[in-house]
Amino acid sequence: MEQYQEPHTPQTDTGQFSSRLSESEGQGLHHQFRVGDEFFRLVLESLEEYAVFTTDTDGTISSWNSGAQRLLGYTEPDIIGKPFALIFTPEDIENHAPQGEFAQALQTGRGEDERYHVKKDGTLFWASGLLFPLFDSEKNLRGFTKIVRDLTEQKRAQQLIAEARAYAESIVETIREPLLVLDTDLRVVLANRAFYTTFHTTPQETEQQVVYTLGKGQWNIPALRHLLEAILSSATVFEDFRVEDEFPAIGKKVMLLNARTLSRETHDRELILLAFEDVTEQDRLQQMKDEFIRIVSHELKTPVTSLKGFAQLLLRRFQKQEDEQTAHILSRMDRQLTILSTLINDLLDVARLQRGKLLQKEEVFNLADLVRETVEDIQAITPTHHLVFEGDENAPVNGDRDRLGQVLINLLTNAIKYSPQAEKVAVHLVTEERFATVRVEDFGIGIATVHHEKVFEQYYQVTDQGTNSSGLGIGLYISNEIIQHHQGRMWVESTEGVGTTFTFSLPLHTERPSPQQ
Ligand code: ADP
Repeated sequence: MEQYQEPHTPQTDTGQFSSRLSESEGQGLHHQFRVGDEFFRLVLESLEEYAVFTTDTDGTISSWNSGAQRLLGYTEPDIIGKPFALIFTPEDIENHAPQGEFAQALQTGRGEDERYHVKKDGTLFWASGLLFPLFDSEKNLRGFTKIVRDLTEQKRAQQLIAEARAYAESIVETIREPLLVLDTDLRVVLANRAFYTTFHTTPQETEQQVVYTLGKGQWNIPALRHLLEAILSSATVFEDFRVEDEFPAIGKKVMLLNARTLSRETHDRELILLAFEDVTEQDRLQQMKDEFIRIVSHELKTPVTSLKGFAQLLLRRFQKQEDEQTAHILSRMDRQLTILSTLINDLLDVARLQRGKLLQKEEVFNLADLVRETVEDIQAITPTHHLVFEGDENAPVNGDRDRLGQVLINLLTNAIKYSPQAEKVAVHLVTEERFATVRVEDFGIGIATVHHEKVFEQYYQVTDQGTNSSGLGIGLYISNEIIQHHQGRMWVESTEGVGTTFTFSLPLHTERPSPQQ
C-alpha cells in the first residue's frame, strides 16, 4: 500500500476509486466500489454547499463533485490526477499541513481543520475541512475523502461581531462615568477605566466578582438588591437610584445609579449595564443654595411684613383725610408689597419642602367647600374674569387644607394671569371611584407641548409666551409637591392660543364618608 507522498511528486495513475470507476471494470477494487456508484454520485452532486472529493492513498485527487467545482473553481477534468495539496496555501504546504491532515485522519479516523484554502484563480477563502480515510472490505486503506465547507460568511460575521465588540468596549472605556457590565448572576463581566479610578480598585478585585461583594460590600444595599432583581425579572430600567455612603477608599460620596438590561438576540445570557454618577459636589452646591435661599427669605419676611403693615396704616390715614392721590400711591405700594411677600413665602415654602416641613396639619374636610371658597375669594379681587365653579358638592379628602387651598390659589391666579384676553375661568370638581378630581380651565395663551412636563420643575418659566411674569417659576413646583405629598397626581393639558387646563386628583377619604363641614 502506498502512503501519502509529497504532493509535488508527479502522478500518473489518477486513482482507483474515481467517480469514473465504472469505466474501469475488471479490477477487484473497482468492483467493490461500483455498487451503488450512480446513487453515490447523485448524493455527492446534490451537496451543492459542500466540496466533496476523494484522493488516492498518496493524495492524488480521484473524484470531484459539483460543489467542489463551484467552491474551488476547478472542473473535474482539470483536477483529477492533481495533488490534493493544490488547494492549500503555500505557507500551509511549507508547514506540511496536508500531510498533517492525512496523519490525523489515519490516527483518529477523521482529520479536521479550519483554514484558508486556495481557489483555481488564486483567491483565498476561509473553510472548514473534514478528512476521512476510506477502507475496503479487507480493511486496506484505499484513499481519503474530504469535505470542504465555505465559511467566508461565518468568518465575516465573526469579524463584524469582534469589531462591534471592540467598538462597544472602546466606548465603554472612554465614558467618564464609572460603568459595570453585569451578568444575570450579578457578576462583573466588564468594568471601565473610570470605575477603577473612581473607586480606587483593580480588575483583580472587580472582575468576576458579584456586585454586592465589591468594595467591602458597599453595594450590598437591600434597596439596590431589590432594584437589580426587579430589572432582571422584568427587563426594565431604573434611573437615579441614590446611594449616600462612606466609600472605603474615597470617603463620603453621593452616587446616582442607573441601570438597564442589554437585550440580546439570544436571551440565554442577558447583561446589565450599571452606571454610577458622582453627584457629591452637585449636592453640596444645591444644599448651599437652598440654605442661602432659606436664610434670605426668612430674613426678608419680617421687614416686608412690617412695611406692608405701615403702608396699610398710612393708606387708611390718607383715605380718611381724602387725599386721593397719596392714597392711590400707597395702594399701589401695598400691591407691590403683596407680590413681594408672595415671592418670599414661595421661597420659604421651597425651603420647608426640602426639609420635609411643608405639610403641617392633617384633617378630613370637604374639598368641594375649599374649592368654592377659594373661587369666591379670588373672584372678590378679580374684576377682569368671571370664575365659574361647577361639579360635585361632596368630596371628603384627608390632608392639609391650607396647603391645598394654596394649590388652588396658584392655579386660579395663573389661569387669570396667563389669559389676559379671556373673560372666563372654569373650575370643575368630579368624584369618581376613589378619587376627587379638580380641573382649572382657562382660555388664554396656552403652553407649548415641549414645556408640559417641565412647568412642574423648580424655577421653570416658559420663555416663549411673550409675557413678563412677576413670578419665580416655583408656584407649580410647590403645588405639584403638595399634591404628591397627598398621594395625588397633577398634570396639564394645553394648546397654544386656545387655553390651558391644570388638573389634580386626590384620593377620597373613605373611612368616614361625607363629613359635610
Ligand atoms: P410663575 O410664578 O412664574 O407663574 P409657576 O410655577 O406658577 O410660576 O408657572 C410656571 C410657568 O408655567 C409660568 O412661568 C408660565 O410660563 C407657565 N404657566 C403656568 N400656568 C399657566 C397657564 N394657566 N397658562 C399658560 N402658562 C402657564
